[in-house]
Amino acid sequence: MILVAIFLIALPYAGSADPPRLLRFEFEEPHMGTTWRIVMYASASDAASAASRSAFARIAELDTRLSDYNPTSELRTLEQNATEQPLPVSADLFRVLSAAQTLAAQTDGAFDVAVGTLTRLWRRARRLGELPPQKEIDAARAAAGHQHLELDAAARTVKLSAGVQLDLGGIAKGYAADEALRCLRAKGVTRAFVAGGGDIAIGDPPPGSPGWRVDASPGTVVLTHTGISTSGDTEQWLESGGVRYSHIIDPRTGGAMSGRRLVTVIAPNAITSDMLATAASVLALPEALRLIEATPGTAARIGTPEGGLEMRWLTSSRWPRGEGADQSVCGTVTCP
Ligand code: ADP
Ligand code: MG
Repeated sequence: MILVAIFLIALPYAGSADPPRLLRFEFEEPHMGTTWRIVMYASASDAASAASRSAFARIAELDTRLSDYNPTSELRTLEQNATEQPLPVSADLFRVLSAAQTLAAQTDGAFDVAVGTLTRLWRRARRLGELPPQKEIDAARAAAGHQHLELDAAARTVKLSAGVQLDLGGIAKGYAADEALRCLRAKGVTRAFVAGGGDIAIGDPPPGSPGWRVDASPGTVVLTHTGISTSGDTEQWLESGGVRYSHIIDPRTGGAMSGRRLVTVIAPNAITSDMLATAASVLALPEALRLIEATPGTAARIGTPEGGLEMRWLTSSRWPRGEGADQSVCGTVTCP
């Protein structure tokens, strides 16, 4: 009698405690000049599609705010109208500009989003296939620099010196990846990652797994709850006189970087990994590593060419080591 009673109570309980079976879904869409990929685990395809639609819509919305290619974006409108008096901006634009200004101050302007005159000059140079004349570099540099950008957090306004142009290419995709991941979570999808080119925001791990395996050449890392970004493995470069010039510029000289450095950064979120990867591409190697060591929850691997196709790899102290589950990385980089 007692046995039967336990059996009747236990059966429905065990059934409802069973987690729903999760299936893997993948989605792809072009945004911000790159291919975005979302991989997730969800219980049904309609839930997965709804979540991905929300995430892609958020990325598209951010593009209308942060793009420097689109002449009607909020960013370009700001450039044209914020020189006389401070202009109120969206929470998104303010957040991205604030993060950029903080890193600009920390890196003495090695990372700087107020370098649009320079990046546009070098963009044209890449298109034409020839180096810009020095006097044009000097003129562009005179209208560049984070000191020309004033933020007022209380009023959420921005003011710019006349002629200054902004370029969020080194930070916007990371922020958009974080925001897309947040939209998935709001739709109930937590086991997912969002990748916009070389910038990836990573959420909860796949079911039964310690994390998402990410290729971080020359090796892989297993990650949860982090951003990971790679700078330098791009098709965008200009070759002149046997030198390859990157699309990352050194704001301090106005020149394009030519060291062919490959930088991967892991950070608590993708906006941080994105901008740190760009910053670590500009700074001298010891300074780049010092910046990573000084930024909580971050790690970097930096490759520099060493004769021919060989690369010399440097890793910061918190870079995950070991194989398989031992490599699992949390928001603070090393798991307890
Ligand atoms: P990717 O666009 O390949 O992800 P990065 O994240 O490294 O590459 O960003 C490079 C982009 O950042 C450039 O194309 C340009 O738009 C912008 N940029 C270039 N130099 C700097 C710099 N010193 N500081 C901030 N942003 C920069
Ligand atoms: Mg970047």
